[in-house]
Amino acid sequence: MLLVALFGTVSDAGCRDPQAKMVETQIVARGVKDERVLQVMREVPRHLFVPPDQVSEAYADHPLSIGSGQTISQPYVVAFMSEQLRLTGTERVLEIGTGSGYQAAVLSRLAGKVFSIEIRPELAAEATERLKAIGATNVRIRTADGFYGWPEEAPFDAILVTAAPEKIPAPLLAQLATGGRMVIPVGGFYQELKVIERTPEGLRERSVLPVRFVPFVGEAERHRADESPR
Ligand code: SAH
Repeated sequence: MLLVALFGTVSDAGCRDPQAKMVETQIVARGVKDERVLQVMREVPRHLFVPPDQVSEAYADHPLSIGSGQTISQPYVVAFMSEQLRLTGTERVLEIGTGSGYQAAVLSRLAGKVFSIEIRPELAAEATERLKAIGATNVRIRTADGFYGWPEEAPFDAILVTAAPEKIPAPLLAQLATGGRMVIPVGGFYQELKVIERTPEGLRERSVLPVRFVPFVGEAERHRADESPR
């Protein structure tokens, strides 16, 4: 009896469980290899982070609206960005743009501690509730303009930004530890996902994926790419 039940679960996993299917067809198929990231993407209940009327779309291959004109990123993008950070389980991570809290939930199972900043108080409040509900006790959320980072908790081993500025905010770069990595979408209508590493010799930057995120609002809008530095 037990064996039959067990085999049933295993062989059905790929076709019946939408979350397992999401990981195989959207994430593994596109080249994400970090086993810890894949496992976390199989576990974190994404349907608890989307509005009730969108639950049926929770594991679909696109971003979803979470209200206030904001979005929860496509599952593949969440997995890809998380993999780029190369987390091992002990890191202190700063996220800018808590939104639904889903990316923070994923990071909470990949790193030691997560600090996440959201500029819209209503989103920060909802995300705090959701993270409490799934028992993510190593995440702290603050309502603030993420342009300034979280200086009291800096430096961070990893920084993940999920809203796009035209220019990387200087305070965020300053809060990246040596040996640390930042993943950030940069641009206006056209954006590039950039990975920035702080090595003992200095900053190394490369573009890894064309992306489309909501704009990084607040102070960053006064530091546009087309303005001279001040
Ligand atoms: N990581 C989120 C997706 C976020 S969408 C998730 O997993 O659901 C981008 C978020 O960035 C939005 O919630 C938006 O309000 C927020 N945001 C935009 N500009 C910001 C700023 N200056 N500081 C903090 N958050 C910001």
